[in-house]
Amino acid sequence: MKKKKNWSVYVVRCKDGSLYTGISNDVKHRVKSHNSGKGAKYITVARRPVKLLYVEEGFDVGGALKREYAIKHSGKPAKELLVKRKRKAKMNDDQIFEKKKELFECARCGNCCEVPGYVFINIKEAQIMAKALAMPYDEFYEKNVRKVGHQHVLKTPFKGGCIFWKDKKCTIYEARPSQCRTFPYWKELTTDHNEWKEIEKYCEGAKRIKF
Ligand code: SF4
Ligand code: SF4
Repeated sequence: MKKKKNWSVYVVRCKDGSLYTGISNDVKHRVKSHNSGKGAKYITVARRPVKLLYVEEGFDVGGALKREYAIKHSGKPAKELLVKRKRKAKMNDDQIFEKKKELFECARCGNCCEVPGYVFINIKEAQIMAKALAMPYDEFYEKNVRKVGHQHVLKTPFKGGCIFWKDKKCTIYEARPSQCRTFPYWKELTTDHNEWKEIEKYCEGAKRIKF
């Protein structure tokens, strides 16, 4: 006879901050029991209430016991990582985007300024940049901007790198255009795991984000 795979392994956070791992075929009910003092001995008055943080489903009872044992003996840091990862997995794309945006701080490493590619600007941004350099707009445009189709892009005088990247720094940082200000927390980059891994390889600011 096929074994029923209706058992789950769960982890709860106790009031004192500790993590408790258990198994059940009705996790919600089990958590209620913990909070009414009818569950495990470990969950004493001082440790109640508990909060459910993590559930793995689809085990038969033997499999659930094995998994419970593995989690219980993995140590506190590993358990914390497990529940944290799950919390992250529960975030939707908008939440991941907002979180990375909030935590990101440009380290000014310049690695995004050296890679070949277009830095698109609009006329208003060109005017702001010209003003920051105390240059007449036409002169600024002639020297630093070119057209690609109908769009304006910063010139790339060396191996595709930006014209304003000189002596290992952006010489117009405070007036840099929106494309630079918002890189790399563009939604398509922040929410695609593989894209973000690539960004982390060279963007020092992205590497520092931990959540
Ligand atoms: S404007 Fe500054 S920040 Fe933007 S690509 Fe050029 S050098 Fe880098
Ligand atoms: S690669 Fe990242 S940290 Fe470096 S300058 Fe660009 S945005 Fe800033």
